[in-house]
Amino acid sequence: MSVECEGVFEIHHDSFRSMVSTVSTLHRLYTGLTWAEGPAYFPALRTLVFSDVPENRLYRYDECNGQTSIFRSPSNHSNGNTVDRQGRLITCEHQTRRVTRTEHNGTITVLVDRAENNKRFNSPNDVVVKSDGSIWFTDPTYGIDSDYEGDKGENEVGGNLVYCLKDGVLHVVARDFEQPNGLVFSPDERRLYIVDTGGTHRRGGPAHIRVFDVGEDGVSLTGGKVFAKCPHGFYDGLRIDSTGNIWTSAGEGVSCYDGNTGTLLGRIRVPEIVANVCFGGGPKQNVLYICATTSLYSIRLAVNGCKTF
Ligand code: MG
Repeated sequence: MSVECEGVFEIHHDSFRSMVSTVSTLHRLYTGLTWAEGPAYFPALRTLVFSDVPENRLYRYDECNGQTSIFRSPSNHSNGNTVDRQGRLITCEHQTRRVTRTEHNGTITVLVDRAENNKRFNSPNDVVVKSDGSIWFTDPTYGIDSDYEGDKGENEVGGNLVYCLKDGVLHVVARDFEQPNGLVFSPDERRLYIVDTGGTHRRGGPAHIRVFDVGEDGVSLTGGKVFAKCPHGFYDGLRIDSTGNIWTSAGEGVSCYDGNTGTLLGRIRVPEIVANVCFGGGPKQNVLYICATTSLYSIRLAVNGCKTF
């Protein structure tokens, strides 16, 4: 089936036309990375922080002057990052198998480094913060499978779980994932979307996004049906716009799905494998940053990222 294209945009549904500016161009902002991942945007600083996982570094891109520089090295092979409701950096660290917070004064606080029964996590991968301050993160094995993106190690937990850290208490919110990965809440926080990339470890394994209902207690999930299946490669990270559409990495591109129906609305073609995306561009949040293998890209959209603080 032929797909209509306008510039770098593939139009899979008419509604996508109003979500993009077809004259918008894809900018390569920085290159020379090994594996760009984990973008997190600080509106007040107009700065994007992102990881180069194998190279053991965090970078920052300053959207005011277009400069990219090293923010933290070594980064303990950090992967996913996000910004909490107070504007602090939250980071998943593979090597140290923990989740940390960079405080306003620059010190680093370990938020959690032990799972159930005092076992070490595998390698926290991606993280999101809910409006109640709870921190939700996934814990696949990628950072302990080899020394490439962490330190080769044992799966002490005996599974690859999804967790919620609320008021200092760690809750297991999902146990039935093969390799849980990116995650994002719907704008009203009543649903949580979680990627499973289990197909990297088992032929025919998951390459999909599941959607859960968040319980009234704020720390439990129900449902979990498959929301979307990746036709090529794997989803990894994902973000949501203000109207609830999902923007996610998917092979050589970014795919946009209707957050209610899972319908593919459109794609942005990117010349490298995409790992993760993040909205930025100041208070409008209408620029999509794209971490794609060796490079950081951006493209201006006609939608706005879901504001989380
Ligand atoms: Mg990931």
